[in-house]
Formats: sequence, structure tokens, C-alpha cells
Amino acid sequence: MSMKISRIVNALEPSATMAMAAKAKELKSSGKTVYDLSLGEPDFVTPQHICDAAATAMKAGHTHYTVASGIPELKKAVVESYKKMYGLDYDPAQVTVTNGAKHALHNAFTTTLDPGDEVIIPAPYWVSYAELVRLTGAVPVIVQTEESNDFKITPEQFKAAMTGNTRMFLLCSPSNPTGTLYSPEELAVLADLVLENNLIVLADEIYDQLVYAGSKFASFPTLRPGLQERTILINGVSKTYAMTGWRIGWSIAPSNVAKKIGELQSQETSNPCSISQYATVAALNGDQKCVAEMRAEFEKRRDYVQSRLDEIPGLSYPNMGGAFYAYFNVKQHLGRKYNGVQVDTSEQWCLELLAQKNVATVMGSSFGTEGYVRASFAASDEVLKNAFDRIRDFVTKS
Ligand code: PMP
Ligand code: GLU
Repeated sequence: MSMKISRIVNALEPSATMAMAAKAKELKSSGKTVYDLSLGEPDFVTPQHICDAAATAMKAGHTHYTVASGIPELKKAVVESYKKMYGLDYDPAQVTVTNGAKHALHNAFTTTLDPGDEVIIPAPYWVSYAELVRLTGAVPVIVQTEESNDFKITPEQFKAAMTGNTRMFLLCSPSNPTGTLYSPEELAVLADLVLENNLIVLADEIYDQLVYAGSKFASFPTLRPGLQERTILINGVSKTYAMTGWRIGWSIAPSNVAKKIGELQSQETSNPCSISQYATVAALNGDQKCVAEMRAEFEKRRDYVQSRLDEIPGLSYPNMGGAFYAYFNVKQHLGRKYNGVQVDTSEQWCLELLAQKNVATVMGSSFGTEGYVRASFAASDEVLKNAFDRIRDFVTKS
């Protein structure tokens, strides 16, 4: 007998980033050297003072349930960091601490969307957004953006996507998967449309600390008065502090929404790991030098990856101002054979690159744009050099 799966989960696409990472790990465990650019996961170790705070928390007996929505010290640290960085005033009660930002997104969608509500999601989009929206019965409205516009939604596209059912706009800037970001001026134009049309904005700002020289980040609610009341901010420590495994993220939402998110969380997961929460307090309240050092390293890698992409004829990519992804256009290299194997899609391209050269990347089709490939440069210099040598040979010699 095969047990019945619910319709809604049956329709769910598994995460392609996770799937490619699993394939790379499988190959590694079979003894192969794999150059893994699949996951957006900093290769740095979590800074020592953060690990020390976790050990101290354990010794102090912070190993039990906490308030489901997070410890007060952490909510306070989150609020203080937003005040310091962006001048935004929030009440700690507006913060819900979650099991990673992915969980914060799930909570936010579940709490604010009803079946039939529409969410405008510019493509390319991070793999989990559309699926998490679908889980609520709401409808992702995917808007194709252009590489020539650095994959940013234009005001015209935004207006054209709007219907009587539009409830939310999903903003991810700096973007996963493209690494591009909206300028404050571009965001202000979108903010006006949001205000005029009474929309909710879900602003995933998880890459706000990874913005490189020449680009300027603005936290969405700072752009116009009235945005704080209609924006749910998402952030976390995975990227900023190299803490992917600690599973701490958060949402900051209008009070009535935050209250309901807390109640939802009290039924679904209870608190995120108590020890990780104390470690996160140390991350947010401690010296931010570690963040600047990691950012500088990522910026060097960004420059290196750009120089390697420039060497390969026929590849193009948008302006990479933030995050740690290169999103390059391989359309000119599809529709031909690679060492005798016909490759017509970005999925086949990524699978052959892995099979023939042991380099793991993620296909653009899973981010909603066929013909592109995402490579994470949250990898060591040595891995990047080897990976791009092989990508060059794959494209030019096979
Ligand atoms: N949002 C974006 C844009 C991401 O790239 C990620 C990557 N993991 C997440 C949210 C979720 O992060 P986490 O659950 O590790 O906090
Ligand atoms: N967000 C990262 C990525 O896109 C980690 C994987 C995931 O959470 O999907 O690679």
C-alpha cells in the first residue's frame, strides 16, 4: 500500500538548491573531488566569540524551552540593530525569532495570505518563495524581469501584474539568485506603488550586510513614511555571521501580525534552539569587525568571479552588487553537444557540468528563468579557481 499524500504537498517542488547540494555531496562521498558552487552558504567558520557565547549559554543551563517567539534579550538586540543601522524604531514585541529565515518566510505567508490572494514575485526568484506561497493556497504571480535591467521589476511591469486580488509584493534585494540590488531611488518608486495600492511587502533583507563598493542598500521601510505598517522584514544570521547551521532568523512585522506569528509558532515548532538564540545575541551585540572582514573577502571573490566569467566567450551576467551569487547567461552555449552529450536546457547544462567536470551549480530554470546558471562564490579561493578553470574548459573545449 502506498500512503496517500496531500494534494498541496504533492504539488510541492523540492528545493533545487538543496537537491544540487545533495548531488554534490553524494559525488564527494563516492570519493570524487567536487568543486561545489551550489549552495549559498558561507565557507567561513562561525566567529569564535559567537561559539563561546553558545558554550557559556549551555553551561549556564539555557538548555530548556524559551518563550516560543524568542528570548527577550534577542528581540531587544534585533530591534537595537535596526535602530542603529537604519534608524528604524520597532517594539521588541514585533520580532519573532524563527528556525532560520526560511521559517520566518513560511510564518509570514501563512499568517497573512488566504487562498486566492496573489503575491507578485519578480523572476528570477529564490527557489523557496513560490512554493511557500503555494502552500498557503495563495497564488504566486511571477513577473519576468530582464537581464538588461539587472533583473529588476519596472514600475510598468509592477502595474501590469496587479489585479483585484493582489495582496503582497515580494522583494529580495540584494537578490538571491542574481546578486543585483535595487537603488534607493528605484525602491522609492516601488514604495509609492505599494502605498497607492494598499499592498503588504515582504522584504527579505537577508543579504543586507553583503553589499559591495559602488552599490547602496536601503532597508525598504526607510523609503517612505507609512511603510513600516505594511512591511514584514525578514533577516537572520545564516549569511551575515556564517551561521547557517545554527538556524536562527526572524521577522519584524506590524504588532497584530507579529502577535499572530508568535501564536502560530507556539503551535508549530515552539522556540528555535535556545543555545543558538544566546549565540545570536552575542553576534548582534558583539564587535561587527567579523562581518566587515567576511564582506571584504566576498567582495574580492566577486571581483575574481567576474574576471573569470569575462574570459569565457558568450557568457553575460547582470551587475553583481551584493550577496554571493553569479547568475550568468548560458543561452549561447545551449543546443549543442558537450563531449557527445546533447545539452539543450540549463538543467542539462548543470547536470553535465557536474558529471563531466565535477563542478556543482544550480540551473536557472529552478529560479524561474531558463537559460541561466547560478554559481555561489561563498567558496574558498582554491575551489573557485578550480571550478572556473573547469567551467571555462567545459564551455570552450568540449
Ligand atoms: N532568503 C534568502 C534570499 C536566502 O538566500 C536564504 C538562504 N538560505 C534564506 C532566505 C533562508 O536562510 P536561512 O533559513 O538559512 O536563515
Ligand atoms: N539560500 C541558500 C541558497 O539559495 C541555501 C539553500 C536554501 O536554503 O535553499 O543556496
